[in-house]
Amino acid sequence: MEKTNMGKRAHCLVLTYPAQGHINPLLQFSKLLERQGVRITLVTTRFFCNNLQTVPPSIALETISDGFDKGGPREAGDYKLYLKRFWEVGPLTFAELLEKLGRSKDEHVDCVVYDSFFSWALDVAKRFGVVGAAYLTQNMTVNSIYYHVHLGNLQSPLTQDEISFPALPTLHLQDMPSFFFNEDLGFLDFVVSQFSNIDKADWILCNTFYELDKEIADWIVKVWPKFKTIGPNIPSFFLDKQYEDDQDYGVTQFKSEECMEWLDDKPKGSVVYVSFGSMASFGEDQMEEIAFCLRECSSYFLWVVRDSEETKLPKDFEKKTEKGLVVKWCSQLKVLAHEAVGCFVTHCGWNSTLETLCLGVPTVAIPYWSDQQTNAKLISDVWKTGIRALVDEKKVVQRETLKHCIQEIMEGCEEMKTNAIQWRTLAVRALSEGGSSYENVKEFANQIYEIHKLHVLK
Ligand code: UDP
Repeated sequence: MEKTNMGKRAHCLVLTYPAQGHINPLLQFSKLLERQGVRITLVTTRFFCNNLQTVPPSIALETISDGFDKGGPREAGDYKLYLKRFWEVGPLTFAELLEKLGRSKDEHVDCVVYDSFFSWALDVAKRFGVVGAAYLTQNMTVNSIYYHVHLGNLQSPLTQDEISFPALPTLHLQDMPSFFFNEDLGFLDFVVSQFSNIDKADWILCNTFYELDKEIADWIVKVWPKFKTIGPNIPSFFLDKQYEDDQDYGVTQFKSEECMEWLDDKPKGSVVYVSFGSMASFGEDQMEEIAFCLRECSSYFLWVVRDSEETKLPKDFEKKTEKGLVVKWCSQLKVLAHEAVGCFVTHCGWNSTLETLCLGVPTVAIPYWSDQQTNAKLISDVWKTGIRALVDEKKVVQRETLKHCIQEIMEGCEEMKTNAIQWRTLAVRALSEGGSSYENVKEFANQIYEIHKLHVLK
C-alpha cells in the first residue's frame, strides 16, 4: 500500500531485444514488478513494435531505432550488418528516449532493466544517472561459458574434447553453443560482448530459479555479488496460479491459430507437439524427415510450421487430418498444459526449455543453433527430462531416429515425466510467496522504491 501511495510510482524502463524469445520473459518479469507496484514502460524497436499483434494495456510502450524502422533485419539483408547499424543507432535513440522522459515530470525513470545483449544500454543509463539491471535471457550454463570466453579462459576453435569449468557439467563439443563452430566468429563475439561491462551493472538478473541452477548460482554470486535468479518468467496461470487471468505472455509477433478444439478430442498423453520456436529454419531435408516421421508414427501430432517454413513441407503433406494438425503459430503454453500432449519435440530455445520443464512435459531435443545444443545437454543428461535425437553425418535427424525417440517417450518414460514434474514443483515453489525467485523480485522492487524515494525527496 505504502508503495502505491507514494504519489507517482517507481518507474522502470524495460528494454528488450526484438525477438519473441527475448520479449516474452522480459514482459513476464515486468508483470512481476508491476505486482510489486512498479510502473513499467516496455521499450523495443520501431519495426518490432509495429509488428506486434498485442500488448498488455497496463504496460506503456516506447520505441528506439535499430536503423531499419521499415523492415528490421530483413530490410538490412544481412544480420551482421543489421547488428552493426543497430549498435550505432540504438544507443543514440535510447539516449534520446531517456532525455525525452527526463524532461517530463511524470516520467522520471528510476531504473533501466535491459536485455543483456544490449550492454550499451548500461552505459547510456549511467550517463543519465540511472541505475541499470542486466537481464540474462539465456541459461546460466550458457552464460558461464560465454563469461569464460570473456575472461580468456576459453576460445574458438575449441581444441579440447572435454570442457570443464567450476559448477558446470562436463561438456563435449556437441554440447557447446553453435557459435564456437562458425567460420566467422562475429556471433560468438556478439554474445560474449554481453559481459564486457557486466561488473558495472547494479543488478544481474537471470531467467532461471535457484533450485535449477544451484551450483552455478552459488559459484557466480562470488564473482557477481549482484546476481539474482528471478525466474522462470512464465505466466502465473501455468505455474503458481496466483493470477488466474495471466494466461499469456501478452505480446506476440505471430498470429495464433486455433488448435485447442482439435486437442480436446484426443486421449490423454496421445499427442506429440512439435515446434521450433520463432527463428529456427531447418533445411528441406530435415523438414521432410520430420514430416515422414510424424506421418508414420503411431501418435497424433500438432506441428507448428511458421509461414516462412511452409514451402519446405513435402508437397503432398496434409495439414489437417484426424491424425495430425499443422498450424502457423499457437499459444504454446496452453498446448503444453493440455493433458492430450505427451511429448514435445523442440529446438530447445531457453523459453521452450523452461516451459516444457515447468509444465512437466518430456522432450525430444533437436537443437538448431546458438545456446540450444547446451540446453539439449541439460535436458538429456542433467535434468533427465528428455532425449536428444542424434544427427547423421549431414547433421540431419533421420525419420527412424526421431520415431524411436518419440516412441521411447510416448510408450514408457515414467522417469522423465517424474523428473519433469519434480522440476515443476520446485519452479512453483520458487515463484510463490517466500520462494527464492519471489523474494528476489520483491527485494529488487524494494530497492527501486528506495531509489524512487530519494528522487521524490530531492
Ligand atoms: N511460442 C509460441 N507459439 C508457438 C511457438 C513458440 O507461443 O507456436 C513461444 C514459446 O512459448 C516461447 C517463445 O515463443 O516462449 C520461443 O522462445 P524460445 O526461447 O523457445 O525460442 P526462440 O524463438 O527464441 O528460438
